[in-house]
Amino acid sequence: MRGQDDKARRKKPGHCPVCLAKLVKNARGSRYERRCLGCRASFQKLLKCLDCGTSRVWQGPEGIACKGCGRTAPDGEGWVERRDLVTAQDTWRRIKAEFPELEAAIEYDRDSAHMCLGELEIFANQAIARGDFATLERTYAFVLDLASEADNLHPDVLKAIHISFLEGLNFGHIGNGEKAKELLPAVLKGMWERHMAHNRSLGWT
Ligand SMILES: [Zn+2]
Ligand SMILES: [Zn+2]
Repeated sequence: MRGQDDKARRKKPGHCPVCLAKLVKNARGSRYERRCLGCRASFQKLLKCLDCGTSRVWQGPEGIACKGCGRTAPDGEGWVERRDLVTAQDTWRRIKAEFPELEAAIEYDRDSAHMCLGELEIFANQAIARGDFATLERTYAFVLDLASEADNLHPDVLKAIHISFLEGLNFGHIGNGEKAKELLPAVLKGMWERHMAHNRSLGWT
């Protein structure tokens, strides 16, 4: 049956579940892009499929489909917003718990991952300036922990890690910048490098 074939093809790796076109790989060739050049559908991290319970839903101008079970359905039917993502408020709570020093600074930022991680970045840069690498590594460990949950982070939190924490780390500090960069864990360094390359491609640096 044609319908069954389509369902199987929607689940197949490397194919867009909405229009069934082949997907391209990312620049490093390590995985398929989570957006389709054919129909412009993309992976919707915030949505979950009610049929199979997975968060592998794609949506675009031509429709919506689940890569987990191959199901398609009219917009709005059978899809729910995920409630299990790490949100700005979770980030706020975690920073308060791990860094009591920042409690006053972030008191009113509970809804902004950018403000919270921005304060952590300032705190990290102060540590770089005074050569306090133990404190600096505490901030790195915290952000590494957060980043290791990438698939479960709300997109705003993931964006804030890049823009409000990593991007502004003062690796140019005379005296301590070089060591601060060396200490950055490999996963975060990879994120930092890709983010900076992205900024350069936009002509921002
Ligand atoms: Zn497509
Ligand atoms: Zn599904």
